[in-house]
Amino acid sequence: MLDIAASLSLAKNTLDLIRGVREAVKQKKLSNEDMLDYLNTLQDKIVDMKTTLADADDENRELKRTITELQEKLAERQFNKDHYEFHDNMVWEVGIRRQPYCPTCFYVDDRLVPLQQRGRQEYHCAIHEKNFWPYNPQSQVLSF
Ligand SMILES: [Zn+2]
Repeated sequence: MLDIAASLSLAKNTLDLIRGVREAVKQKKLSNEDMLDYLNTLQDKIVDMKTTLADADDENRELKRTITELQEKLAERQFNKDHYEFHDNMVWEVGIRRQPYCPTCFYVDDRLVPLQQRGRQEYHCAIHEKNFWPYNPQSQVLSF
């Protein structure tokens, strides 16, 4: 299989060959048999170029698909960290106490992962399989 650069080189050679054949035809130097040989050679070169272009087209489509997937993943991770703050053992949108996010995902993996509420005071990160409880002074009873 040829790559695109080799195929471009082949296209240049093919055009040179056509130029040479045209000159030979003008000067009536070619027999019909010679002419058929040249036409067969040109046909082979064009078939090679067509195959290379089809392969390159497949590869191009695959690369575009990969780029789209990576752009989607990147968009998922792009958020402004300044809009979030850490308190009560979890990450929150600044000034909004509605949905807590996993602090490990936020600070270690740069991901904004909403915590799932389990109990009244218990939140769960499905990615880290960890539970979080907001700081509650009344529950800080030391027992020895
Ligand atoms: Zn997490």
